[in-house]
Amino acid sequence: MNSNPLLSEFKTVHQTPPFQLIEEEHYIPAFTEAIKEAKEDVDKIISNSEAPTFENTILAMEYAGENLSRIANIFFNINSANTNDNIQNIASEVSPILTAHSNDIWLNEALFAKVKSVFDAKEENNYNQEQLKLIEDTYKGFVKRGALLTGEEKERYREITTELSKLTLTFGQNVLAETNAYELHITDEKELAGLPDAIIAAAAADAKAKEKEGWVITLQFPSYVPFMKYADNRALRKELYMAYSMRANKGNDHDNNDVVKQIVNLRLEKAQLFGFKSHAAYVLEDRMAQTPEKVNAFLEELLDKSLPFAKEEVKEVETYANTHGLKGKLQRWDFAYYSEKLKNEKFSITDEMTKPYFQLEKVEEGIFGLANTLFGLTFKANADITPYHEEAKAYEVFDAQGKFISVLYLDFFPRESKRGGAWMTNYREQFVQDGTDVRPFVSLVCNFSRPTEDTPSLLTYQEVRTFLHEFGHGLHGMLSKCTYVSQSGTNVYRDFVELPSQILENWGTEKEWLKQVGKHYQTGETIPDDLVAKIMESANFQSGYQSVRQLSFGMDDMAWHSLENAFEGDVNTFEDEAMASTELFPAVEGTCFSTAFSHIFAGGYAAGYYGYKWAEVLDADAFSVFKENGIFDQATADSFRKNILEKGGTQHPMDLYVAFRGQEPTNDALLIREGLVK
Ligand SMILES: [Zn+2]
Repeated sequence: MNSNPLLSEFKTVHQTPPFQLIEEEHYIPAFTEAIKEAKEDVDKIISNSEAPTFENTILAMEYAGENLSRIANIFFNINSANTNDNIQNIASEVSPILTAHSNDIWLNEALFAKVKSVFDAKEENNYNQEQLKLIEDTYKGFVKRGALLTGEEKERYREITTELSKLTLTFGQNVLAETNAYELHITDEKELAGLPDAIIAAAAADAKAKEKEGWVITLQFPSYVPFMKYADNRALRKELYMAYSMRANKGNDHDNNDVVKQIVNLRLEKAQLFGFKSHAAYVLEDRMAQTPEKVNAFLEELLDKSLPFAKEEVKEVETYANTHGLKGKLQRWDFAYYSEKLKNEKFSITDEMTKPYFQLEKVEEGIFGLANTLFGLTFKANADITPYHEEAKAYEVFDAQGKFISVLYLDFFPRESKRGGAWMTNYREQFVQDGTDVRPFVSLVCNFSRPTEDTPSLLTYQEVRTFLHEFGHGLHGMLSKCTYVSQSGTNVYRDFVELPSQILENWGTEKEWLKQVGKHYQTGETIPDDLVAKIMESANFQSGYQSVRQLSFGMDDMAWHSLENAFEGDVNTFEDEAMASTELFPAVEGTCFSTAFSHIFAGGYAAGYYGYKWAEVLDADAFSVFKENGIFDQATADSFRKNILEKGGTQHPMDLYVAFRGQEPTNDALLIREGLVK
């Protein structure tokens, strides 16, 4: 019997993690023990004297180190959603050890020899699709991690990956530190001019939480975004914009310029060890898109179509601003502010008009309802499942037959211990072991506007979309029906993973669904038709600008990772050049996007940011089937579930897609949806 809960059997509902028992000091000993076990598992495979088979090699590897995966899942999820200095230190300590352990497996020659022997004989056996894919993925996993490298190259590969895991952690920690380091403390009420009451109340609550007088604006999205949109005080907007855009680019202790350089150079060196010309080429081999050339052509084509619209849109805002008091050029810190006013004038719609109809609890009900209509799912809160933070909630999810299919954690509000943005993750993934279907634990983590003393949490329309988006990822996890954990749920190529999330957002553009969800938080009145009409009319407001913005991030990412020689230059200058063709505003000295671009430098989106746009093409094309057959059509929902949501990464995504759609996707549906066709 072990007193460390992480190393004991979880005697909880569905064996969910016993968060109430887990203390910070449990992690290091648990990792140490679990790594030891994992090594023993692997040693057993290697020392097996029988001839290598699917079972004793490939499958045994799939199951090796189960405890380690379980602990790592819990720990790294906590490090994102409920961290502190201590947890971050543990992460820094543990990450290189985990990388070294993973290298011990993937660089083990005896193990690779066994895998290769199964791989080479795969045609001689009667394997099914999932088994074949697992054999190929395992073999490729070795090759991609250096199994075919020799001597010094292998040693260098090991150094590079260890160094990279440290650098990417540092990058993220610097961004978090820089985000938290800044606050705009307002004590003069006049400086709040223009801000809606709810935003002022939230700023007062933030001040109160920090034991300060007046109001506090932070760089967290729910504080930053509305301030940029509404604050009349241009100097303060500029100050806040600069604080946000100069994060980790100020030459202080949390500067990321050098970290960026080191990361891109090490990634390049790694790719070249494998004979690829760039990191992008190395990464894209395992993507739906396949090559940098194809990705660049894709981005260029969409930029070509979007840029003329974007330029018109920015010009329109500038003209509007100039007739409404702005002298001179429109700057970046003016764009959201005047856009909001222009949008209001054009469509007479503001976030504040729609927010009362999008009470968080009602939206949650509506999204659960959608999952019920399309896939027969029901959700039951269960107070016996303890979440990892008092503000998170735990649900059990059941299918149409009443069978338990998943645990779902929902964690909505920002706090300093949580990183920004919104994401879906797993505390356990789905798989089948010895005939038992082990069901997943899915978690959705968001940063939505908090309730205040007298109002519940009211979502902006964009936040409603974000909720749908993350819930779509959640469905991909919850509905998974795969045999092997490495192929289940969202374990798919990165440029395919956003299809389930983005397609869900489409229901948020449909009147029928919006009317089910939109109920006034005070009166219960259904969102009026004219407001829904305005939401839909305004949906394409500045779609050209939005498109160019996304493309610019994709191009910045591709530029960094298409480097074919070590980078010696200046990070800011390089970025300016990479994004030049997408530039819509005068340059601002001192700001840099790359130094806070966590997606590609702290997360796993390197040479993958284009995937968001790629997935938009997929989701628009896929949703056109629902549009044709009816947005609640059962047969279409069934087909999407069976061909996409249940299948994980068991087959090449293009095959799964074609099975659902009947053909490969085209850009047409997206360009039409966004009004980007003349
Ligand atoms: Zn997503």
